[in-house]
Amino acid sequence: MSEPTRSASAEAGIDPASADALQIAGMSPLSTCDWPDQLVATLFLQGCPWECTYCHNPGLIDPRTPGEIPWSRVRGLLRRRHGLLDGVVLSGGEPTRQQGLPAAAREIREAGYGVGLHTSGAYPRRLEEMLPLVDWIGFDVKAPAALYRAITGVGAAADAAFTSLRMVLDSGVDVQVRTTVDPTVLSPSDVEELQVTLRRLGVRNHVLQQVRPDGTTPEYRAALAAVRSEG
Ligand code: SF4
Repeated sequence: MSEPTRSASAEAGIDPASADALQIAGMSPLSTCDWPDQLVATLFLQGCPWECTYCHNPGLIDPRTPGEIPWSRVRGLLRRRHGLLDGVVLSGGEPTRQQGLPAAAREIREAGYGVGLHTSGAYPRRLEEMLPLVDWIGFDVKAPAALYRAITGVGAAADAAFTSLRMVLDSGVDVQVRTTVDPTVLSPSDVEELQVTLRRLGVRNHVLQQVRPDGTTPEYRAALAAVRSEG
């Protein structure tokens, strides 16, 4: 997987490694479901190198789309929400695409909050840098390695994902591994194979999620409806 390209913020003269450079597409100021048992604010970061069949927020994929929410607004939220929030979840898109993520995580911690991260592991080197800075990871595993390309559209995706997963498990950071089961690609035996693989790798917390059609492309919704009507 290639590293992210030069960002618009770098071109605008903002240090791309600063939190101010983050392209934040959206913010949910209060969520009870983005980090189990924690009350959090969630930031949705722009850009993802993959194009999953079932992506229900394809507007987050293009890395050239500018952010909607300046980091100063997040800073304001961090100042106001003491005692009301446990943490902040960095979600996407693929948040590790952005160089400013470690600076953002440091600032969130210094403000007294926990840091959660949603990732699919597309950028192992970036993820490695984040591991000392996060308290919990929601890690998406898409499929058994041989079927990664069919879900993400990217040939090298499985290598990146399983390298990242190994690093997360070795780090000891609290992790929940999640798989959205796409029945247009995965058969029940593919899912079983994945569960066996993950157990062998040492995953203790693996959650299967049903794919949701909302927000997906019309082609995908039609394919999903066809598969579900057969079942
Ligand atoms: S990894 Fe997530 S954000 Fe990226 S394309 Fe897949 S579902 Fe969408």
